[in-house]
Amino acid sequence: MIQYGKQCINQEDIDAVVSVLKSDFLTQGPQVPLFESRLSQFTQVKYAVAVNSATSALHIACLALGVGKGDRVWTSPITFVASANSALYCGADVDFVDVELLTGNMDMSQLRLKLADAKRKGLLPKVVIPVHLAGHCCDMKSLAQLATEYDFKVIEDASHCIGARYRQSPIGSCQYSDITVFSFHPVKIITTAEGGAATTNDATLAKSMQLLRSHGVTRDELHADHSDEAWYYEQQALGFNYRMTELQAALGVSQFKKLTDLVRRRNILADYYAEQLTALNIEFVAPGEDSYSAWHLMIILLPEQIDRKSVFEQLREANIGVNVHYIPVHTQPYYGKLGFKVGDFPVAEAFYQRIITLPLHPQLEFAQLDYICEQLKFLTSR
Ligand SMILES: *Cc1c(COP(=O)(O)O)cnc(C)c1O
Repeated sequence: MIQYGKQCINQEDIDAVVSVLKSDFLTQGPQVPLFESRLSQFTQVKYAVAVNSATSALHIACLALGVGKGDRVWTSPITFVASANSALYCGADVDFVDVELLTGNMDMSQLRLKLADAKRKGLLPKVVIPVHLAGHCCDMKSLAQLATEYDFKVIEDASHCIGARYRQSPIGSCQYSDITVFSFHPVKIITTAEGGAATTNDATLAKSMQLLRSHGVTRDELHADHSDEAWYYEQQALGFNYRMTELQAALGVSQFKKLTDLVRRRNILADYYAEQLTALNIEFVAPGEDSYSAWHLMIILLPEQIDRKSVFEQLREANIGVNVHYIPVHTQPYYGKLGFKVGDFPVAEAFYQRIITLPLHPQLEFAQLDYICEQLKFLTSR
């Protein structure tokens, strides 16, 4: 089976992890701060906070922005469930903003309408979480303007997106947001096995997320009457154990060396696909002119009259590990219990009906892409 996504691990990565195993620290050593400095340098941001998953990063990002009971958080229905769940962990209410039919990214004109309506009702969101689907950046300029106009905070879910750029600035630089979140799961652009991070330019938010990832416990800035007690530590908030291990961070530091090449390779493969798909008259989700995509996913859009299930099955039978990204979150049974129903976000649902994710990862060869596109020919020939 040609897998839809796959990590790239070389001997250098293996050596980096083994050397940590032989060192004094398996956790809470020098590798995590080193990984954070690589990330902040690369993304041109002031602070990076590494954690054990993007899900954890989304959770502490929401908490750091003060999301709690009675607050509203809006995100995209075309995402992995974690983007929405993070708000629920904080006791907040979640709602969704419908997407653009051609990109699956949050539709800023829909957001504008929804904000105007929410303002009239006094129900404005505290935080909006755009998701850069497939590694293609959302219209962040419009979003940032709305954030100023309606006074909400922005967390970018850039799980698909490390190595991408938007209007000349790296994703993660937080030029148009308060916090950006990355995932380092093995199917993503670079990996730490499990792992994630949040970046920000705001010192207070960074400090708050650092506290929350480790039980809310600190040895910094203790009360003066304890300053001579070497054993003393202090719990200042209700935090979690969301720490990244030294093994993961060392793998991440090593993976960073390849990031630019991996994203370049993804772009080369995506261009190759694009040429063939265009010749076959098959639409696909493509980045806007103002962004350089990380090309996490190649999502094709089938013509409306074609049955997605039969195409999907046919491709799997041809040993092509196709997938679907994503089932709209509001149609999940758990979200049904919260009151959402089919029909709530019609564009997301129409998008979902038409999509199939083709394999795309740096180790694929042109010949495999030729084979995949050959198998797609029947779509246009009937
Ligand atoms: C993968 C992913 C997540 C969750 O990442 P983890 O690191 O597995 O917690 C969140 N949002 C999106 C859009 C993702 O693709």
